[in-house]
Amino acid sequence: MVGVKLIVRGTVQGVGYRPFVYRCAVECGITGRVFNDAAGVIIEAFGEEPQVREFVDRITLRHPPLAVVRSVERAAIAGGAPPDFRIVQSRAGDRVEVDAARDTAVCAACLAEMRDPHDRRSGHAFINCTDCGPRYTIIKQLPYDRLSTTMAGFPMCPACGGEYASPVDRRFHAQPVCCPHCGPRLRLLDGSGRPIDGADPIAACGSMLESGAIVAVKGIGGFHLACRADRDDAVARLRLLKQREEKPLAIMARDYAAAACYVRISDAERALLESVERPIVILDKRPGGATLAAQIAPRATTLGVMLPYAPLQYRLFDGAAYDALVMTSGNHADEPICASNEEALRELAGVADAFLVHNRDIHVRIDDSIVRVMGGHPVIMRRARGYVPEPLPADADVSGIVALGGILKGTVTVGRGSVCYTSQYLGNVDNAETIGHLEAMTRHLSGLLDVTPALYVCDNHPGGLARRIAEESGKPVMYVQHHHAHAAACAAENRHKGDAIAIVFDGTGYGDDGAVWGGEILLSGRAEFKRLGHCAYVPQPGGDAAARNPGRMALAILHASIGDRAAEACGWMPLDERDAVLQMIRSGAGCAATSSMGRLFDACAALLDVCRTRTYEGQPAIELEGIADREERGDYGPRTDSRDGMIVIDGPRILLSAWDDARGGTSASRVSARFHATIAKSALAAIRMAADATGCDVVCLSGGCFQNAMLLSRLTEMLASSGFRVLTHRLLPPNDECVSFGQAIIAAERRRMGNP
Ligand code: ZN
Ligand code: ZN
Ligand code: FE
Repeated sequence: MVGVKLIVRGTVQGVGYRPFVYRCAVECGITGRVFNDAAGVIIEAFGEEPQVREFVDRITLRHPPLAVVRSVERAAIAGGAPPDFRIVQSRAGDRVEVDAARDTAVCAACLAEMRDPHDRRSGHAFINCTDCGPRYTIIKQLPYDRLSTTMAGFPMCPACGGEYASPVDRRFHAQPVCCPHCGPRLRLLDGSGRPIDGADPIAACGSMLESGAIVAVKGIGGFHLACRADRDDAVARLRLLKQREEKPLAIMARDYAAAACYVRISDAERALLESVERPIVILDKRPGGATLAAQIAPRATTLGVMLPYAPLQYRLFDGAAYDALVMTSGNHADEPICASNEEALRELAGVADAFLVHNRDIHVRIDDSIVRVMGGHPVIMRRARGYVPEPLPADADVSGIVALGGILKGTVTVGRGSVCYTSQYLGNVDNAETIGHLEAMTRHLSGLLDVTPALYVCDNHPGGLARRIAEESGKPVMYVQHHHAHAAACAAENRHKGDAIAIVFDGTGYGDDGAVWGGEILLSGRAEFKRLGHCAYVPQPGGDAAARNPGRMALAILHASIGDRAAEACGWMPLDERDAVLQMIRSGAGCAATSSMGRLFDACAALLDVCRTRTYEGQPAIELEGIADREERGDYGPRTDSRDGMIVIDGPRILLSAWDDARGGTSASRVSARFHATIAKSALAAIRMAADATGCDVVCLSGGCFQNAMLLSRLTEMLASSGFRVLTHRLLPPNDECVSFGQAIIAAERRRMGNP
């Protein structure tokens, strides 16, 4: 008789790990016990030597589908072997080390039960099991037990309790298990919050949707505003009421086959659509495909599509007359998604004709994730439901580090041991609502992970609102340059610890010289960076006003090469505005200097009349990429040179070439493709110069501009064929959502070097 103790660490709670251990033990003839504690899952196993060896092999080599095992530690133990194997009470340990599980889509077995008229959970919109269902959004604290979730207020009925306690049942120790008798209740409320009577709230909601109504539907991470995607009137009304001008709306299609009628779907894209994470996938519209309301994505060549993931959403499609619903976040632009019934009734009044609500609380609000396949690889564009709180490798001691991220597309990162936990996308941290959300998530994540903040990290922008959280904490605060954080995030995601040449192309970041940086070539290390080059500085007339008005940047950048003649090129601008902007450029008053690559894309989109009014962030660049001719192979040659020891990408000359080309009669779609190719070639030339100067051959690509598939794929191909090792974002978005992670990595290295 031998005894062994195993400590299993990783994402091992809330994923059916203990039932899995129980089954292995019974199959191997092992006695002993298993329980959750703050470290993870603890197993004490006794038996004859060959059986124990077989059992340990199984635990080391296998795991339930949703578990992520980081390590299995083993030690011999003595002591009396119990007569059987049991799952026993969880214990709170000294420190929480376990990871919280992610929210995953309902599994096939649960879905089949829900659709079986004879099953006792027939039609149950909250069905789940150890392999599926909500986790991160309902967990208040770890270790993970029903009482630590928002299911605490729903005592199990005898039938559910029996399944929960039965080792042979697939709901054995499934914490959120429930049924129509003991689970949450749905209610349909009218636009002013009064209950609408009817036997089945989902059926009543379905018929309202069928007839063109807008309904606020409570999902996993918050409320969606839903309406038929094939009804012009409903979609137009939704846009009007939500005051959302042109930003594309995402749709939820009944299933893969329905989605394939609207968009083209590759195998990699299908796998993403049907993955347990169920993100919104950005897909190319199918020419001549099934018709959707014109206003869903009026100026886009792509469409954001997702498949149902909550049982409730499946029920909204079962037997319905529609194949697709618009499903957009229930919030006001740039504010956090509504999560509680009260919030939804207050904030969405006047937009929703009805509310489909229930009484299972959402403890953590989280948006749908957005992913796009670029060059065969998924690139995450918004990391939220399904992906968070998956730990990220830091390969350094990050304990107690809390990094508060950038200003746009905010996230917070909390460090524990040698891994980081980066929050979901929290919105633009430039208003009171999102700052509150950031503060709450900082508290929640550090509490959940049992991390006592020891060091705060902020962007070095003097006007960043998140600074207050750090500076009022009484803890040490470190400041990190924005593009250095981008570069460090990209390197760390790829577990690269040495120096790298980083190309960071984005919209805005505060530069060490006080200018607005955003087209940067850095030699980036974990603690420090050196600026090797950048896009040529141009004036940004009116600061942020120029980011909202791409025409201003067109005028400013052209003016840098052809002076006042630029005014003719911008003849579409209202005369008084054009004169005022010219005056600012000439005098320099109100003009910050910027090296932003994002602004160069804006300027090109405006000059080519692709997008002259920006109604949402990133619109000009997205539309410029959208119209680009994918067969076109021309370019304007690399426009990179060396000035005073700096590598400079000559944005004004690139823009002038595009303008001359367009004036000569070349179509906007070909000019756009040539513009993209020129940026890629100029970046390649800059990287070659940087490599010659430094001897470094590893290249990181980061920044929101690398959400542009054409730019990313052209540049990565050229770099790979030139022998560079190219690192791109795989776990986090290239946009500012990655900044907090990069800040944490840099802070850890500076702290290690004794330089806080
Ligand atoms: Zn299930
Ligand atoms: Zn029940
Ligand atoms: Fe950025």
